[in-house]
Amino acid sequence: MNKKTFTQSPILYLVGTPIGNLEDISLRALRILKEVSRIYCEDTRTSSVLLRHYNITTPLFSYHNFNEDVKAKTIVDYIKEGNSVALISDAGNPIISDPGFKLVEECLNNDIAITTIPGPSAFISAFMTSNMPFPFLFYGFLKPKQTEREKELQELKYLKASLIFYEAPHRIKETLNSILKVFGNRKCYLARELTKKFEEHYYTTINDLILECDKLKGEMVLIIEGYKEEEIKADKFSLIEEQIKLGLKTNEAIKEVARMLNIDKKELYKEYVAYKDN
Ligand code: SAM
Repeated sequence: MNKKTFTQSPILYLVGTPIGNLEDISLRALRILKEVSRIYCEDTRTSSVLLRHYNITTPLFSYHNFNEDVKAKTIVDYIKEGNSVALISDAGNPIISDPGFKLVEECLNNDIAITTIPGPSAFISAFMTSNMPFPFLFYGFLKPKQTEREKELQELKYLKASLIFYEAPHRIKETLNSILKVFGNRKCYLARELTKKFEEHYYTTINDLILECDKLKGEMVLIIEGYKEEEIKADKFSLIEEQIKLGLKTNEAIKEVARMLNIDKKELYKEYVAYKDN
């Protein structure tokens, strides 16, 4: 076991910042951003807007996806010299579909203390307003290439959890079309521009949302209803037959489908035999 209790200084602070409305930041976050020796962020121009708003003059340095590996080591060396630093992202929490993973890993490998100053994340805010059932699975961004995206969706298709995605406005239409193709027409929810002036919420279906796509601009979170029991019943025999076509023996296909759908394989076997006998 590798238990760590972080009370010592210096420390890496993972600090949550607003997802739109600059007032959505904690008092502790503001204090820590003033106290640390450096703040690392994705884009210094974006983060300086927030820091100027709160008169924070701590030096800002960039830390983004392109230089994560090298930069993480440099930051760790700087912390080891006795300096506490904060990591923030352009919006919301670092790490959440944003850089930071490597830095946390490097700190853990070097016994450097880490703590979080939580703030808003777009997906948590969207889930709260979505009225979609718990549990949920936060996926983040799907792959931009259609074939890879649809492969990812195939892996998610039979999950019963509500599925949460981030998406950019220029890709939302293709993404919804891929989801429709792989999942069929399910209930969905889209939150746009949360906490900002033109905030909007769509409670709809994938088909209907596709018709609205050209109007959808700005930042958005998409939530798709999970796989339903009724769909499971309708699908399970065709899934077995798909697996047989792919080369599995009937027994193996039943076992595989029972695993995919998390149902009892003996029951499924009985149901399938009865279905074939009719
Ligand atoms: N780290 C952020 C967080 O904690 O939510 C997410 C960063 S990710 C690079 C950016 C994506 O988050 C956007 O493309 C959008 O999908 C979502 N997002 C960020 N701000 C949002 C907002 N105000 N309203 C809706 N979605 C938002």
